[in-house]
Amino acid sequence: MKTIGLIGGMSWESTVEYYRIINEEINSRRGGLHSGKCLLYSVDFGEIEPFMRTNEWDKIGQALINAARVLEDGGADFILLCSNTMHKLFEQIKDGSKLELIHIADATAEKVLRANIQRVGLLGTRQTMEEDFYKSRLEKQGVQVLTPKPKDRDIVHQIIFNELCLGEIREESKEEYKRIIEELISMGAEGIILGCTEIPLLIKQEDSKVPIFDTTYIHAMKAVEKAINITGGTH
Ligand code: GLU
Repeated sequence: MKTIGLIGGMSWESTVEYYRIINEEINSRRGGLHSGKCLLYSVDFGEIEPFMRTNEWDKIGQALINAARVLEDGGADFILLCSNTMHKLFEQIKDGSKLELIHIADATAEKVLRANIQRVGLLGTRQTMEEDFYKSRLEKQGVQVLTPKPKDRDIVHQIIFNELCLGEIREESKEEYKRIIEELISMGAEGIILGCTEIPLLIKQEDSKVPIFDTTYIHAMKAVEKAINITGGTH
């Protein structure tokens, strides 16, 4: 079995989910006391997040390259960056490390296309919904992307940072997300990408009429596939 390297802590509430999904899946495939071989570098998000607001992405990039190198020295075989938003720095981190980085949007696009869906609604942080780094990666693979209107993008973003990253799950926020999902469906979305690793803590399949693509789950499953060499993909 290969050793999965995780750059986490952004936020730790969702990194816990990666760890749980990886271990549960490997145990269900291998049985007994088997679990995943993982190395986790968990950052202090309180040191990282201010640089997002001041747009000092180079400083975040340096911290994440440092994390990747620690994982590399520790014996990881490949790396997952446990945040959709931080994929803004994907190329920079990839260039700064010798290990393969598994892109969360590539793994997600594969699942979307396999479900025979071409047009999705994307929920995530402001960066993920508004900038090009994530949407273009999906579009390059043939997935069309719709995002909520500006006021709703703001609501989605604020709930991520003010509640979900702090482990707060509120019924009224769930209702807001459901309303925004409904609107994306009326705009033509055939599926919804939960493009932020904390959103699956709030939104489940039963909250949407169309298929939900949980990026935390998809990314973690991709790592399992790679770690235990499954060909043909997981569900
Ligand atoms: N975990 C989040 C994501 O998947 C948001 C927090 C962050 O900016 O890393 O985008």
